Amino acid sequence: MSPSPHVRVQINLSRIRSNVQAVGKLTGVPVIAVVKADAYGLGAGPVSAAIADLVAGYYVFDLREAIQAKLANTGRRTIVLRGESSNPADYTPLGAQPAVWNADAATALKFASPILSVDTGQQRFGVSLEDRQAIDAILKVGAVREAFTHATRVDQASALSAALRERVPVLHAAGTALLGEPAARLDAVRPGLALYQGAVKVVTRLVEVVDSGRPAGYSGFIVPRHGVILAGYSNGLGAGPCRINGRAGRILEVGMQSAFVECAPGDRVGDEVELLGDAVTVEEVVAAWRSSPQEALLRMTAMGERRYTQA
Ligand SMILES: *Cc1c(COP(=O)(O)O)cnc(C)c1O
Repeated sequence: MSPSPHVRVQINLSRIRSNVQAVGKLTGVPVIAVVKADAYGLGAGPVSAAIADLVAGYYVFDLREAIQAKLANTGRRTIVLRGESSNPADYTPLGAQPAVWNADAATALKFASPILSVDTGQQRFGVSLEDRQAIDAILKVGAVREAFTHATRVDQASALSAALRERVPVLHAAGTALLGEPAARLDAVRPGLALYQGAVKVVTRLVEVVDSGRPAGYSGFIVPRHGVILAGYSNGLGAGPCRINGRAGRILEVGMQSAFVECAPGDRVGDEVELLGDAVTVEEVVAAWRSSPQEALLRMTAMGERRYTQA
């Protein structure tokens, strides 16, 4: 998959800032911004810089992401899930704190302010909450001041709190799905998706418009008037909704590097086709692609050249 030179991906940094502020207001606790996977495709560098004054820190999957996004320059700390290094010197200069889930890692990374990752159901990247012996061994190292779990249900957050409230000063569990649940908020929230909602607009233009009425394309679809855009499977596009001249439209058929869209009588070559934005929501795209919001965002943001706006 590669970006199309004919597609523009507009990222609204002000919207991301207001999303962070809304999460802070709703939850009343510090926000740790999840900027893994290049901030879900929006660009971890520009995104993290734009919200540095509003967040308590960042969360990424690996060290490479923290380095590439220059998170050290934000002045905030970064939680790294899988650092793949047991050398504290690989973390501390970056303001990075490794997640740990065994006593060996906690010991090796004692001077990198390690954070305990607790498994409450995902069954990966964490010590099982039921394995009290292993948790005791990690805490005995004496370096852990913070613990988190990747919760999808309130009871997972509550279980973390019940087990560690008296032993670890800072606990967090909630991503986007649990922001509305007071019992899951604990001492911080860790949203990804919620920060990016409504911040991406993906547009292209009609390069051909044809009055047809006869079978067209591979599938032989028939519409009175169709247009062609220069985005296709190779750019990550799927059939689904779009918006042309303020009117709801459809992507009728997708090819490798182009796609057919349904057009109205007034639509002309050069007119803008919105693939995602105010009028075409991520939810609509998810329904059409039978995808998840995360995957839809990643594909949409990879479809063309990214540009950043403040307004
Ligand atoms: C990705 C991730 C999140 C954010 O999830 P969203 O549903 O996008 O808010 C939170 N915590 C952990 C540990 C994650 O890996």
